[in-house]
Amino acid sequence: MLIDTYGRVATDLRVSLTDRCNLRCTYCMPEEGLQWLAKPDLLTDDEIVRLVDIAVRLLGIEEVRFTGGEPLLRPGLVGIIERVTALAPRPQTSLTTNGIGLKRTAAALKAAGLDRVNVSLDTLRPDVFKTLTRRDRHKDVIEGLEAAHAAGLTPVKINSVLMPGLNEDEAPDLLAWAIEYGYEQRFIEQMPLDAQHGWKREGMVTAGDILASLRTRFDLTPEGADERGSAPAERWLVDGGPHRVGVIASVTRPFCAACDRTRLTADGQIRTCLFATEETDLRGALRSGASDEEIARIWKLAMWGKKAGAGLDDPSFVQPDRPMSAIGG
Ligand code: SAM
Ligand code: SF4
Repeated sequence: MLIDTYGRVATDLRVSLTDRCNLRCTYCMPEEGLQWLAKPDLLTDDEIVRLVDIAVRLLGIEEVRFTGGEPLLRPGLVGIIERVTALAPRPQTSLTTNGIGLKRTAAALKAAGLDRVNVSLDTLRPDVFKTLTRRDRHKDVIEGLEAAHAAGLTPVKINSVLMPGLNEDEAPDLLAWAIEYGYEQRFIEQMPLDAQHGWKREGMVTAGDILASLRTRFDLTPEGADERGSAPAERWLVDGGPHRVGVIASVTRPFCAACDRTRLTADGQIRTCLFATEETDLRGALRSGASDEEIARIWKLAMWGKKAGAGLDDPSFVQPDRPMSAIGG
């Protein structure tokens, strides 16, 4: 098992497949100038599958989420998913994507064994989308969502980050739209993980703001702690159910005590937390001929050192060097 000194057990592995992206969301990436990881430093498809195999067979990982950067940009994605879903024990698999290209790939991803997708969509307004992501691709995301739903990659969840002065008033519209189309809406508080280090605690839209805004149109009833488990999203039943809405309040209501994650970056580094300032190199071990058992031991040791919490609201908090796109969100 991947256990830490606070007794938390990691069963959920996030695998970043690339640090590259076809959008430039302002809360994530700068317009230009971000250095990409060098190709030889990226794990190969075989290396990724081997590490996931070690994770499920020797370390108790039950769920694998592929992310990035934009994971749909990884050429070998379908093959990786095929091989990961053929592992024993078979992990649950999901993909976090901006949805661009999903129209073309959703059916193939489903056929490869992918269980479900989370699609990021912050706004229903194409002009605001263009400002937020610096690309005019709103239509592609909407079509991607539809294709994911049609392919049965369900429940399709929508992740939205609300930004002050841009889309902060859109929470009720996004939720109403998601309910209409059969998606599960979640809001994520903006975190200090942008490459430009421009995050400000004062200006951010908080979970409290989001809930207040939603309550102007919907009746929200909290789901019990039992249903939440280790999931980062706190969920509410909308107008008595069955529809739900989730809020991931990493900044104002952190869930570190229940965290069950471990992360693998596209260049083969283990991170025990999004906000970790240290990484453990698995790529070096892989490429120097370490056995599966040796790699599992290094991973366990890294996990043992996981910190109690991210401490985002703590004045001594230091933003990690790597941005969200390079860690894998
Ligand atoms: N490109 C894919 C996407 O956008 O879904 C996957 C990677 S992205 C880094 C994963 C998630 O992180 C997205 O839902 C995105 O909105 C979120 N994200 C990125 N930067 C963030 C930040 N600074 N604060 C909160 N969420 C952020
Ligand atoms: Fe790309 Fe996702 Fe970051 Fe937006 S949030 S720039 S889609 S990696």
